[in-house]
Order: sequence, then C-alpha cells, then structure tokens
Amino acid sequence: MKITPEYLHAGNAVFTVSNPNGTTFYVRVQLGRPRAGMPKPYWITVSDHDAPLKEYQYVGMMLDNGRIATTRTSRFRHGELMYNIVAWALKCIWVDKLPAGYAIEWAGRCGKCGRKVTEHIDGFGPECHRSIHNVSYDPASAYSRTMRYVAGPIYQDCR
Ligand SMILES: [Zn+2]
Repeated sequence: MKITPEYLHAGNAVFTVSNPNGTTFYVRVQLGRPRAGMPKPYWITVSDHDAPLKEYQYVGMMLDNGRIATTRTSRFRHGELMYNIVAWALKCIWVDKLPAGYAIEWAGRCGKCGRKVTEHIDGFGPECHRSIHNVSYDPASAYSRTMRYVAGPIYQDCR
C-alpha cells in the first residue's frame, strides 16, 4: 500500500522506512488534541524497531507541506540521523518519488486507531475505514505559514 500525505493525516498513521541494506525505521504521525483557534496538530514520533507506539521517540510536528517543526521537547534536531530519516521520508512521500532500493511501506496498523490489523482497506481496519472520509487538511493553513520551518537536506535526495 502506498503511503500518501492524505494517509499521514488519518490520525494514527504508521509507516516503515527501509534502506537498501534492510535497515528499517518506524514512523508514526499522530493527530493530537486540537487547541482552540489552532489547526490540528500532527505529532511525529520514530522508533528503530517495531516497538509499542508509546515507546516511540518524539521528533516534532508535521506541517501541512510535509516538513517538520521541532518543538521544545523534540528528541532530535535537524542534522541528527533520526530527524534526517523522518524528514527525508516525508519529503519522498510528498514528492511521490523514492530512489531504487528504498522502501516506504504501511506498517500493519490501522491509520485511524493505530491498532495492529490483519485485514485492511487502504491502510485502515474495516471498522475505521468508513471514517477516512473525514480526513482533511488545509495546505494553506496559517500554521504552515507561521511555524518555524526546518527544511531537511537529507541523506539521499528523493527527486
Ligand atoms: Zn482502526
């Protein structure tokens, strides 16, 4: 199943990023609790193995253009490996290109509720599938314009 920007806004999207050596990282994009007057926050966390979701390490906030805004509690900064991997993967998802040998794949969890599922429809468990039509995001939101961008040059360009 292809991971798309829309899927990353589903609420609990988890995907894997693998390089040609077979090294795999797990990335989660979780919809946080919205604050009044603010757009919906999407928190990015990462793990170097298939850990329980609560053990993922916090990277930052995913902006509507697929870039990352780090915050005070981010565990990684621009230039650090985990940050770079996540930023690179998001960029590849946004431009819809991936170099040979690399893979970005669905991680076997429902994109809405985050539970492991054996059956899925477009990355959602059957029960959650019908709610995907509520997924939306606004690429021109004020959030994207005002948050501090951290553009990522990444370990291999995906264009
Ligand atoms: Zn679900």
